[in-house]
Amino acid sequence: NGFAKLGITGALLKATQMAGFTEPKPIQIESIPAQLAGRDILGIAQTGSGKTAAFSLPILHKIMALGTKRRPKTARALILAPTRELAVQIEDTIKILAKGAHVSTALVLGGVSRFSQVKKIAPGVDVLIATPGRLTDLVREGDLVLADTQWLVLDEADRMLDMGFINDVKRIAKATARNRQTALFSATMPAEIAELAQGLLKDPIRVEV
Ligand code: AMP
Repeated sequence: NGFAKLGITGALLKATQMAGFTEPKPIQIESIPAQLAGRDILGIAQTGSGKTAAFSLPILHKIMALGTKRRPKTARALILAPTRELAVQIEDTIKILAKGAHVSTALVLGGVSRFSQVKKIAPGVDVLIATPGRLTDLVREGDLVLADTQWLVLDEADRMLDMGFINDVKRIAKATARNRQTALFSATMPAEIAELAQGLLKDPIRVEV
């Protein structure tokens, strides 16, 4: 299994196998070891490239190493996606990859009861997947404090820009831990996204597939 060579081990390695992932895709080969080593990533990749597993596996690896003890009462990792459909898809992939591990996930999406979302996160969640609009509301109103959120992923950043979410994304990123690890994925790299990356990523590894 080629994922072992990238540094994926134990239950997570087994889950990739069960999911039918035996050979890592180029985006995964180029970005997983760097993320495991703590580096920020600027990924230029399309849907279908395998980017979801590329950013999820390193986060799951690190969260599984931390265990469930002393889980902060917030989201340990936050993944922002432009649409509800993509957010749901990301959660589905993470559930498959985290199978058999004690990793909790939650969704924050517009159009769904706020109360039930806040209640689910309150005791602390490992991976939160959210669309920027609703999450901004929760953060602004103090329903969710992200100061202990150590991992941030922006998926399809160019679409979030097109949908007018750029200021929400910046505000959310600002609310997360200062020493967080960040990955930004985008299909295209217009000036606004390059600028966003410059502001949010620390000495990133640039990966283009
Ligand atoms: P994504 O670009 O993240 O939307 O992934 C596209 C598709 O590729 C999804 O259906 C994944 O389940 C699949 N996939 C991701 N990585 C691998 C892999 N290493 N081997 C086989 N399929 C994969």
